[in-house]
Amino acid sequence: MMRKKIVAGNWKMNLDLRDGIKLVKELVGGSLPLETMTIIAPPFIHLEEVGKQLNGTLIKLAAQNCHFKDSGAYTGEVSPTMLRSVAVEYVIVGHSERREYFGETDELILKKIKAALGVGIIPIYCCGEPLEIREKGSHQDFVRRQLNESILLLAEKEISQIVIAYEPIWAIGTGLTASPEQAQEMHAFIRQQVAETFSKTIADSISILYGGSVKPDNAGHLFSQADVDGGLVGGASLKASDFLAIVNS
Ligand code: PEP
Repeated sequence: MMRKKIVAGNWKMNLDLRDGIKLVKELVGGSLPLETMTIIAPPFIHLEEVGKQLNGTLIKLAAQNCHFKDSGAYTGEVSPTMLRSVAVEYVIVGHSERREYFGETDELILKKIKAALGVGIIPIYCCGEPLEIREKGSHQDFVRRQLNESILLLAEKEISQIVIAYEPIWAIGTGLTASPEQAQEMHAFIRQQVAETFSKTIADSISILYGGSVKPDNAGHLFSQADVDGGLVGGASLKASDFLAIVNS
């Protein structure tokens, strides 16, 4: 199976509903390539309204997080079933901000991945190392451990449905970007881990996105690497012209 090129925009906790709708209208009015899947992940409260704007367009809807239970006494949480009811097709799980500020572990992230897949939502699983680990040169061991404790424990039919995003923490929102060579090296390493645990066929079919200060002027070079299948974009996804330029890279 040919893997897909994907660019996903993570709005994080930005834009009120009115500004979110304005941004979506600008994106929908822009020109998007047919060969790349474009995804946007607005805050929860925007999802239904943004989903209506996306109906019949090339852009897919994602959430930024989900709970792993279907329903119940989990104040403030949103379940995959609820996301499905507003036509969400993707969900970001394991973002480094959720790991760092909300104490999410790979064990919890694995439960979220399984819950999302259970209702037909595709998880975009994030992994990546902090700066001190990169500086010590143990970034591959760090990411291998993240993978071993989460997605490499999935069943074969589950792993083949997910999207992976490699996001070095030192590059997120910092303006520092991994070089195309650093990104390629880690993407190939991640693919190799999937191949060793499952099969080369499965590894070759999984899209692995790069995230970390992707901008219009660096996207083309990053995305041209053999194992980089697109990007997960934070800051630059909040400006229509920048996001469209990145998608068209
Ligand atoms: C992100 O939030 O996933 C991200 C990569 O952010 P930024 O593009 O702003 O570095």
